[in-house]
Amino acid sequence: MKITLLGTGSPLPSATCAGPSTLVQAGDQNIVVDAGRGVVMRLLGAMMPPPFVTAIFLTHLHSDHICDLNDIITTRWIASPAATPLPIYGPVGTKKMVDGLLAMLSQDESYRLDHHADLRAAGGMKVEVHEVEAGSSFQLGEVSISIHATDHRPVAPTIGFRIEHNGVVGALAGDTIPCDGLYQMCENADFYVQTVLREDLVRTFAPLVPTGDRFLDILDYHSTVQQAAQTASKCNVQTLVLTHFVPAIQPGQEGEWKAMAAEHFSGEIVVGPDLTSVEK
Ligand SMILES: [Zn+2]
Ligand SMILES: [Zn+2]
Repeated sequence: MKITLLGTGSPLPSATCAGPSTLVQAGDQNIVVDAGRGVVMRLLGAMMPPPFVTAIFLTHLHSDHICDLNDIITTRWIASPAATPLPIYGPVGTKKMVDGLLAMLSQDESYRLDHHADLRAAGGMKVEVHEVEAGSSFQLGEVSISIHATDHRPVAPTIGFRIEHNGVVGALAGDTIPCDGLYQMCENADFYVQTVLREDLVRTFAPLVPTGDRFLDILDYHSTVQQAAQTASKCNVQTLVLTHFVPAIQPGQEGEWKAMAAEHFSGEIVVGPDLTSVEK
C-alpha cells in the first residue's frame, strides 16, 4: 500500500499547499480520498493521470474537500479512451452534491459530445455515486474498505475509511475530533492519516484578522496535532501522517509540527509537504 499526500492545505489559500486530498494505491486500486484545490495537478505530480483513478472517497462535503472533484470527473472522462464510470463513495448528501456538479458541467459535456464522435459513442460522462454509512463495508477488487463515523459536528454525517489490502491497513480520517468511531477505524493501523490544526497558531492569528471570531470556531471540530498523536498512540498505530495544515505549514516548519506530535506518540510521524508518500 502506498499513500501519497496530494494536497496538505485547508480552506485557507496557500501558494504551496494544494487542498486536502490523499491518494491510496493498493492492489489494482488507485483511490483518491477527498478532492481539494489543485488535486488534478498533484495527481500528475504523483504520476497518476486521472484516467487511472479507480474510485473517489469523500470524508465529508465541506468545500475544501470537494472543490476540484469536477476537475477529476471531467479530465478523467475526456482523457480516457473508453468510458468507465467513476465510482464516488461518500456520506449521505453526496448524491445531491454530485447531481448539482453534473448540472454545472452539462454544457461542457454537450459541447464535447457534439464535437467528438468517440465520446458520443461511449455514452457521455458517467459517475456512480454510493452513499455509505458508518458500519458498512465493501470490496474493490482485493481491497477491503470499512466505513467509520467521525465527529466534525455541526457537519454531519462525516466518515472515515479503513482500507485494507494484503494485511496492511490505512486509516483515512477527514476533519474530526477524537471519537469512538475514529478509534475503531485506527485500531492497529499501519498508517493513520489525520487532518490537523495548530491551536497555538490559530489563537495567535485570530486577533489579527477581521474574521478572527470565525477563525476560532474551527477549533471546535478539528483534531489538533497533539490530539492526532494521542489517537495514534491510543490505537497502536505504526505511522501517523499529518495533513490539512491549519494554518498552512511554512517550508522548514515541518520539524516543529513533528516535535509537537512526538510528545504524545512514539511511532513514526510524517509531516508533508504535498506529494510526500509512505509505503508498506
Ligand atoms: Zn477541511
Ligand atoms: Zn471540514
